[in-house]
Amino acid sequence: MSDATVHTDVLIIGGGPAGALLGQLLARRGISVLVAERQTNLEREFRGETIAAPSVVTLRRLGFGPALDAHGYLRTEGVTMRMEGRRVMHVDYRRFAVGTVPIDIPQPALIGMFIDAGRTSPGFDYQFGTTFTRLVEQDGAIRGAWLRRRDGSTVEVRARLVVGADGRFSKVRHGAGLTADVQQMARDFLSFRLPRPPEWGLQAELVISRDRHLVVLPTWPDSLRIGANLPKRSLGALRKAGFDAFRSMVTGLDPRLAPLVAEHLRSWDDTSFLEIFTAEVPQWTRDGLILIGDASHTCTPILGQGVNVAIQDAVCLAPVVAEALASGNDPVVTSAQLADFVARRRRHKAFVTKFQRVQESALAQGGTVGVLARRARYRLLDVLPLKYRIFGSVLNAPHEIDPADLAEDVRASPGVGTAD
Ligand SMILES: Cc1cc2nc3c(=O)[nH]c(=O)nc-3n(C[C@H](O)[C@H](O)[C@H](O)COP(=O)(O)OP(=O)(O)OC[C@H]3O[C@@H](n4cnc5c(N)ncnc54)[C@H](O)[C@@H]3O)c2cc1C
Repeated sequence: MSDATVHTDVLIIGGGPAGALLGQLLARRGISVLVAERQTNLEREFRGETIAAPSVVTLRRLGFGPALDAHGYLRTEGVTMRMEGRRVMHVDYRRFAVGTVPIDIPQPALIGMFIDAGRTSPGFDYQFGTTFTRLVEQDGAIRGAWLRRRDGSTVEVRARLVVGADGRFSKVRHGAGLTADVQQMARDFLSFRLPRPPEWGLQAELVISRDRHLVVLPTWPDSLRIGANLPKRSLGALRKAGFDAFRSMVTGLDPRLAPLVAEHLRSWDDTSFLEIFTAEVPQWTRDGLILIGDASHTCTPILGQGVNVAIQDAVCLAPVVAEALASGNDPVVTSAQLADFVARRRRHKAFVTKFQRVQESALAQGGTVGVLARRARYRLLDVLPLKYRIFGSVLNAPHEIDPADLAEDVRASPGVGTAD
């Protein structure tokens, strides 16, 4: 069954951090936006929860400070690297001149803030339980999409711009014939939560032994989120070996976790699997369409950049779309109007990916010589001021947000709270 065709300025497929924030920012500017989100509520599988410091600054400038503070979050004060039982490197995030540190806040809370703020603008429509099925194409341009609602009905939505913000396995990307260069990393991740002991610090930790490692992240409000890396395609063999084999692997890497694992890590149901790959998409746009967030470029979890990149995409794209809609007489926003945005964001994402690949290949070292060389390298880096330059270049790179981009969004932010 199909309803009458719906018209909107911008149709955003996917209401994750990228799609929900972009929708809110456009609606603030008086643009009509429909955000189609497949899930029926905000309770989603675990996703990245780290917001890098520059994005925290951006969100506060946009007026989300009061909402962040009202919900609560955890400040991540630094990262410590331990190799074969010894602490080899520490980066204190408080030493960066960003004015804040990365924070940890659950994605449902973050997206909920964007939706709540969006609903104060009349043009904002965030529809849960609404799944993208296919694009509407006319004369070589994308003119809208077909959506399926949770009651099974379908609707055709016509828009001047369709935004694919539907994540790492983007169907919009596929439907538009845009290909992704997917590079599998050597390992995948199995993650789980444990209660955080009161004496545990607010540092992220990388606990490494040969080609195995754990990422241990203090998580809001009172947990540790732990990611254990597994060799690619080894989950089946691990499951066959039994859950105790996994628990032993974890406690073998970090014996401090043994009592918590014994008490709280009970079965495979307590874990969630993440396939680690990077995806680079040579072409992000067609006339009438753009990809953002994970759909345009998928990062690995190293240094928690996925949500950060998604936020930066939304913030940088909003003024570009607003200008294109206001100025163009074209029925759609064209690739040419989006080209500068794409070039700018592509540079940042390529830089993040390059850094992550270097780190991942260092972490995947298993041979004795490689392991010794790695430890010596990080030890040396630890005593060099260069360490702050290298980590700062990735953690704080998105300073490329032009304050002029934000000015209009800040001005047009009724109902979000005051910018601080
Ligand atoms: C299990 C997991 C763990 C992660 N851990 C980390 C981490 O530790 N650190 C880190 O930085 N990043 C991590 N990430 C990545 C991080 O979560 C993403 O980079 C970030 O969420 C990207 O935001 P996005 O809005 O682009 O995409 P997403 O957050 O993936 O949002 C896409 C949205 O599109 C919706 N959608 C998909 N298909 C359709 C459709 N056909 N129709 C309508 N809606 C659709 C989805 O339901 C989803 O809500 C993790 C990701 C996953 C999956």
